[in-house]
Amino acid sequence: MRFRMRKGRNSSWLIDQLAEYNLKSLEQALFFLQSQYKKKKKVIVLGDFSSPLEEDSKLYRKVANLFVRYPVYQVIAIGNRITKYHSFFSPSSKFYHNHQTFFSDFSSYCVEQSVFLVQGERDFSFPLIEFLEQKKHQTKLEVNLDAICHNLNSYRSRLNSQTKTMVMVKAFAYGNGILEVAQALEQENVDYLGVAYVDEGIFLREQGIELPIMVMSPDPQCFPQMQEYQLEPEVYSFRVLKKLSTYCQKNNWSADIHIKLDTGMHRLGFGKDDLESLVLILKSNTLLRVASVFSHLVGAEENIHDSFSEKQIEEFVLGSSFLEKSLGYSAIKHLINTAGIVRHLKAQFDMVRLGIGLYGVDVVSEESSQVLCVTTLKTWISQIKKVRAGETIGYSRRGVAEKDLLVATVSIGYGDGFDRRFGNGRGKVWINQQEAPVVGNVCMDMTMIDVTNLDVEEGQEVVIFGPNISLTTLAEQIGTIPYEILTGINERVKRVFFYSLKDSALINTGEQ
Ligand SMILES: *Cc1c(COP(=O)(O)O)cnc(C)c1O
Repeated sequence: MRFRMRKGRNSSWLIDQLAEYNLKSLEQALFFLQSQYKKKKKVIVLGDFSSPLEEDSKLYRKVANLFVRYPVYQVIAIGNRITKYHSFFSPSSKFYHNHQTFFSDFSSYCVEQSVFLVQGERDFSFPLIEFLEQKKHQTKLEVNLDAICHNLNSYRSRLNSQTKTMVMVKAFAYGNGILEVAQALEQENVDYLGVAYVDEGIFLREQGIELPIMVMSPDPQCFPQMQEYQLEPEVYSFRVLKKLSTYCQKNNWSADIHIKLDTGMHRLGFGKDDLESLVLILKSNTLLRVASVFSHLVGAEENIHDSFSEKQIEEFVLGSSFLEKSLGYSAIKHLINTAGIVRHLKAQFDMVRLGIGLYGVDVVSEESSQVLCVTTLKTWISQIKKVRAGETIGYSRRGVAEKDLLVATVSIGYGDGFDRRFGNGRGKVWINQQEAPVVGNVCMDMTMIDVTNLDVEEGQEVVIFGPNISLTTLAEQIGTIPYEILTGINERVKRVFFYSLKDSALINTGEQ
């Protein structure tokens, strides 16, 4: 049982449960409420069961009986099915066909100091929690974990059934939040996680992630932790290989390693001419087991690089088959990233390494893209003011009011990861479905927006990117790539995780 509590409006408390919604979880929740909040005014808001195991009349009879065993101050039931059986419940219970009618009736309740328990399917609970929660103004990054799973499965559906998937969760899962993303991926049974540094791998292990993890830049100083936490090093040079070989022999570590081949990127990896010596060292130490051999395409997303990609694929086939033949066993071979999955599927080998596409960025701009938006960056308007023609706005007087303007100050700046290059009209934000350009320079914690003639008010939500503004468009405005914007969102921006394919259903605020 996992219950979460947060502050609600009118000094109430708000509780919901991270569990499937059924009779049993409802009873557990009522028991919890009764035992933990003896003296408080308890209000329960509950919804329809979406796929009940028994007839509605029997089920809702049982639900009504629960409130005999666990009395509460007020039952509020929302949904067409439960409403049909209102006669089973005590007369003080309230019934609504939908959220909206409840919301408009809300002021008739006296909820000061009460504890609200929200029970229902995810799509039911989210709007309620949104509504009942004490609104806090802050900049937040909302991450839709259901969209992540959808994107994963959409890319997986392109692969041969036996092809494995490694998901790259380096750089805080591209800024989204490494733990929650890894947990979702573990549920989806991906085959491998890829991280950049040992620290990231240790963190995942300490949080209970059991999937195999490849570490791309393993610091030899950290081999003891890698052994302890079963983290698998990428081996890209003779320096790393020799240190690892020595360490393994001293400590009797039978290490699964991943050999990186340089097929043209010239970043890390063994070249063609290194392979013979590589094999000699590998064969001399039977504690080193080559779990995989891989390389990386430099321009998988662009057709101008297709012939180079072909050359890389050929090099990779030659290098990896030489290794396998010389070692006398086979290893997982993997080459392609997200763009490769879309454009060079024939090079899927035994595994692919999925990154940016999982996080909702369609790097190839396919017409038939199935990629769902995962991440929404939101902030809010802290002040709105009139600025007269001729005045200037912000640092260095770079924003000049050519005419009378209405200017909104929003609570995000380059310190949050809203790039300074968005200043002076380059960037636009969304307020209430309307586009508004940045005026003047972006400050560290704030930005001014031209909202002249728009319908806006202080306290209103502002969207920087999300379903309506793609990261790709944003990146183009300042001459960068979506990867940089996503990974640049500062850690001070709160991550809010939710599950929904309908862009709703908050379940983890990460807040205590
Ligand atoms: C980050 C990374 C990937 C993932 O690339 P995307 O373009 O984000 O799909 C794949 N392979 C390696 C080696 C990487 O470092």
